Amino acid sequence: MATCFRLRSCLALHLPRTPPSRVLRPRADYPMARIRGYARGPAGLSSALLRTDGFVGGSWLSAAATFPVHDPASGAELGLVADCGVPEARAAVRAAYEAFCSWRGVSAKERSSLLRKWYDLMMQNKDDLAKIITAESGKPLKEAEGEILYSANFLEWFSEEARRVYGDIIYTPAKEKRALVLKQPLGVAAVITPWNFPSAMITRKVGAALAAGCTVVVKPAEDTPFSALALAALADQAGIPPGVYNVIPCSQKKAKEVGEALCTDPLVSKISFTGSTATGKVLLRHAANSVKRVSMELGGLAPFIVFDSANVDQAVAGAMASKFRNSGQVEEHVSDAISKGATVVTGGKRHQVGKNFFEPTLLSNVTRDMLCSQEETFGPVAPVIKFDTEEEAVAIANVADVGLAGYFYSQDPAQIWRVAERLEVGMVGVNEGLISSVECPFGGVKQSGLGREGSKYGIDEYLELKYVCFGGL
Ligand code: ADP
Repeated sequence: MATCFRLRSCLALHLPRTPPSRVLRPRADYPMARIRGYARGPAGLSSALLRTDGFVGGSWLSAAATFPVHDPASGAELGLVADCGVPEARAAVRAAYEAFCSWRGVSAKERSSLLRKWYDLMMQNKDDLAKIITAESGKPLKEAEGEILYSANFLEWFSEEARRVYGDIIYTPAKEKRALVLKQPLGVAAVITPWNFPSAMITRKVGAALAAGCTVVVKPAEDTPFSALALAALADQAGIPPGVYNVIPCSQKKAKEVGEALCTDPLVSKISFTGSTATGKVLLRHAANSVKRVSMELGGLAPFIVFDSANVDQAVAGAMASKFRNSGQVEEHVSDAISKGATVVTGGKRHQVGKNFFEPTLLSNVTRDMLCSQEETFGPVAPVIKFDTEEEAVAIANVADVGLAGYFYSQDPAQIWRVAERLEVGMVGVNEGLISSVECPFGGVKQSGLGREGSKYGIDEYLELKYVCFGGL
């Protein structure tokens, strides 16, 4: 008898979108001393990087209204952020389109060196950027530091890839003709990102877009606008031309209309979205009308299969590393599972440190009709399903209509090949729980999305192929 977990990047503790408290107090893990001469804003954060206005055409842009953003761990208000609406979205698209007309002509080497400068500035400011992520997303500082390194690496990677966009020459049967294939930038990309990886989701998309010669308008998630705005401050310092990188933060109330405006604007050629499958489908419908290119990075369920031959210690370490990370909205999935016969082995309730925290939870006797078997659980919950045969394990894993990542542990080489090939996912971890890397393609199959990010393939998402036929030779 072996074990199949069905979980998602769940598991570390905080529940975002808490009822806000207006009390402003520093977090215990923020040094209050001035770093590199920056004045300190709320909760000790760098006020040079903690921007609250939108960033359009190289200028900071206030809006008619603002919305408050809170630290989900303490409830402290971090700032009142410009609530950009449809007019600001259209202005940002216009600025990005105008910038595209010149950015597309900037040499690949020059684009590369600007991305490299942006990367260098991220690294110089990594501590402050990590604190901003922790403040707005509630994730532990250690994880935020890791996210900054990971997201900076995308800028470094795409600064290198910018110089390696090649075309092709094709010989056809016609002796007097030659065929060329050119790769050209698509145009303006609208980038819509979620709360959970506020910095990495941006650099992964924007790095590829800028390397390809596209320009971008970013609409960050309402809970986490500060990372995108801090990146704008650094892009400006790096010398990235006005209009190439634009950010329009907005409240949850305006997200729908701003999203629709971006996905239907004729000047936008590409939509790149990371978030829920439900929202992805809405954006796909909007984008369909003008047949825009799309990249969709949507939900997953991440089966984690432990076969009989597995090294169990390795599997436990892998499960902790890959699953007990990041945070979530939890609780409903646990009560649903219990009501349908699951047993709580450990955890199962809110944590004593506060109502915004949930205990790491292990559920056994889990069946396929439970919500935790069907939907992403953004929380520290591990439901466990037992199986008897390899076929059964693969069938349980593949029954989902999503397929982002899958993990399995086995020491049997033939089984490793079989299962790696048969899992219906975009990414497989074999005896390994941490698989993301800027050099490798990230993305899913089925309803987990369309397209790949990072790697040498990521840049193709922002390039169009043009076939040119030369005759008369
Ligand atoms: P998550 O639950 O991971 O935050 P969502 O899909 O709800 O995922 O949100 C991801 C991003 O999509 C956020 O930037 C959010 O503001 C935006 N968003 C949510 N609903 C819509 C919508 N109907 N139209 C456009 N954007 C939306």
